[in-house]
Amino acid sequence: MTTLPTMFSLYLHIPFCRRKCPYCDFFSTPSGAVPDDYIATLLAELELYRPYFTGTLASIYFGGGTPSLLTARQIDTLLRAIAHHYPLPSDCEITLECNPEQASLAYFQALRAVGVNRLSVGIQSLDDALLRFLGRGHSARQALDTLAFAEKAQFSRLSADVIYGIPLQSETILETTLKALLGVEHISAYHLSIEEATPFGKMQARGRLREVDEEVSVAHFALCDTLLRAAGYDHYEISSFARPEGYSRHNMGYWFDRPYLGLGAGAHAYAVMAEGARRWWNASHLPTYMRQVSEGVLFPESELLTDELRWEEWLMTRLRTRWGLSLSEGAQCFGMPRIARLLADAALFLSSGSLVHADDHLFIPPQHFLTADQTIRGLV
Ligand code: SF4
Repeated sequence: MTTLPTMFSLYLHIPFCRRKCPYCDFFSTPSGAVPDDYIATLLAELELYRPYFTGTLASIYFGGGTPSLLTARQIDTLLRAIAHHYPLPSDCEITLECNPEQASLAYFQALRAVGVNRLSVGIQSLDDALLRFLGRGHSARQALDTLAFAEKAQFSRLSADVIYGIPLQSETILETTLKALLGVEHISAYHLSIEEATPFGKMQARGRLREVDEEVSVAHFALCDTLLRAAGYDHYEISSFARPEGYSRHNMGYWFDRPYLGLGAGAHAYAVMAEGARRWWNASHLPTYMRQVSEGVLFPESELLTDELRWEEWLMTRLRTRWGLSLSEGAQCFGMPRIARLLADAALFLSSGSLVHADDHLFIPPQHFLTADQTIRGLV
């Protein structure tokens, strides 16, 4: 396996949360702090993959879980070690996902001082009753204070997560939340999905909870799309809205094929190696992950992407964004016959307007993003 010099991204998974939100099916373990031996394991894993990643970092992302359980000292330790291995250009985007429960002016100032330059805040809603329903540990007041602290600490790059499609969430409540967030550079809006293995999933199985009706999903999605676009946001990906220049560079990497190294329990990684494009991932189990790193296990679970998988991935990632896919790029990578077949399969979607063909591009217009999954499945 050889390394290719390139731009790449780094993702660090922090799989700890103070408590589990009843709708969440991300991998995380209950804890009020991040143990130092987990930091040591992340550093050891960084060293393990050093021979496989060269080049410059485009972005670093601390995701979770709850990365704001990290102390500024722990983040400093991690960033110094990363900078020791890789050049960090001055415009390297360094994002930390933050829960309003941990927010304070002093914490945010300390994050700035150690190099974090973007925060992604889990606001979810600015309605206290909905926050309680979602099992969040913060109030609407704390969420607004978080944004104020971030501004005071001079974080100009801010993203807010919002959930729509929540039972009992009226359009007025959603509208009030969105309007209160209009100063923020980037907004990620997600539909609440009820997953089987979660407490919400179990409530649903017992008939005590029901996903919202399709009309509600459509109305909530349309509200996010129209309100935020009217306010000057670019609806540039299914769930993502940004003010000019406010795109998440880290996520853009996922959608446009940039290699990424994922560190931490449950983290995923992707790179094009001598034998082809490879994806690999760590165990979503803390002791197994820690043991594997201590034993020097590389690529614990992995797959080589076949041509078919690469094609599917290319369609799925490109069509998530408003730029869509370039037909000439596709012809170059996958051959002209495949593109001719794609255009034939696209006819139905083109006639309904859920897909548009303009010049060299095929794309899903933002107002049709809600049904993007069906469109993409139809093409794949
Ligand atoms: S804080 Fe985030 S990652 Fe943790 S349980 Fe809640 S939704 Fe899941």
